[in-house]
Amino acid sequence: MRKKTKKSNLSKLHTPPDSPDIKQKQQKKEIDFIIKRLYVYLKTHPGCIFLKKISGSCVGYYDDAEETITIDYRCDFVPTLIHEFIHHMRPKWNEKMVIREEKKVMKHLTGIQCRNILRAMVGSLY
Ligand SMILES: [Zn+2]
Repeated sequence: MRKKTKKSNLSKLHTPPDSPDIKQKQQKKEIDFIIKRLYVYLKTHPGCIFLKKISGSCVGYYDDAEETITIDYRCDFVPTLIHEFIHHMRPKWNEKMVIREEKKVMKHLTGIQCRNILRAMVGSLY
């Protein structure tokens, strides 16, 4: 018997709150949370970032077993790092959800946050 496919819980996760102001504040909180978790990940996983040329259309990947992120150094570093980190943080999310979150983070990321991410990343390079 073929089971009914489960509906994505994406809509549940991203139900817009009533006021756009509240929505913006909530989004900022979510993004700050992801960024803080990224700093912690980079500090607690020394040598977790690998840089190499990746062939094909892929510019980065997350290794679940090793908890490492590999980035093609010819691509946009920060969005790739954030994308792969979201895979680490939300292992059950599908690619579409990860891309959506990555875009949200990139839209709200400040220059200072970006600088701090890059600084933390340097210390985590393999
Ligand atoms: Zn992905």
